Amino acid sequence: MKILVVGANGQIGKHLVKLIQDSGNHMARAMIRKQEQAAYFKELGAENAVVNLEGEIADIAKAADGVDAIVFTAGSGPHTGKDKTLMVDLDGAVKTIEAAKMAGVDRFVMVSSFDTRREAIQAASSSFAPYVVAKHYADEWLRRANLDYTIVHPGALTNEAGTGCVEAASEVERGEIPREDVARVILGCLEDSSTIGKEFQIVSGGTTPIKEVLKKL
Ligand code: NAP
Repeated sequence: MKILVVGANGQIGKHLVKLIQDSGNHMARAMIRKQEQAAYFKELGAENAVVNLEGEIADIAKAADGVDAIVFTAGSGPHTGKDKTLMVDLDGAVKTIEAAKMAGVDRFVMVSSFDTRREAIQAASSSFAPYVVAKHYADEWLRRANLDYTIVHPGALTNEAGTGCVEAASEVERGEIPREDVARVILGCLEDSSTIGKEFQIVSGGTTPIKEVLKKL
């Protein structure tokens, strides 16, 4: 499978590209926004495409040309303003979904936030709410896009080493999860078509390996 990773230079993105390349069965195309970020991915044997999510849908569609699946794991991060939350976390996600349709790529995995329900918008602090709004509507756009989607809702991300075991369900108790395990879950979803049309929260815990957890969803 050839997989376009949108947000490849991010912390989850880098884990994911490495896992894809190490799998021996798949190939990653890293969508990055600066040419100087390409060397890391070339070293791993991955392809790359330099596209800014604030640009045209057609440019994202071109980056997706010929791939079998798209993963959206980009985000504006906590150090930019609400303008970037709107442009990247919402519009960038929606444009990537539209680009998938334009490029004829059906499989789409979204890295969402832990809780993107309307209640979570109402409960969020005024500074966090715009991000939850962005993720809420991006998820909703994907549900309605007629694509083979999976929406992953991770708990608080950490840089601990992954354990390979997670708890996953439509609702789990809030907790943390290493980015490495989120990347493993994403690849697990791409390798397990039973996850199509599903969405679930994930946190660290339990003793069940990711592949088995995904099968039981
Ligand atoms: P990250 O390290 O901040 O990576 C985000 C990536 O998005 C970066 O590579 C960044 O590019 C890219 N990006 C930003 N703006 C872009 C644009 N205009 N065009 C193209 N790419 C752009 O994030 P992470 O830690 O891997 O997490 C991924 C996502 O998980 C987050 O963004 C968030 O939505 C979600 N999430 C976070 C948490 C949490 O606890 N923090 C919990 C659940 C979900 P550059 O490398 O060039 O800056």
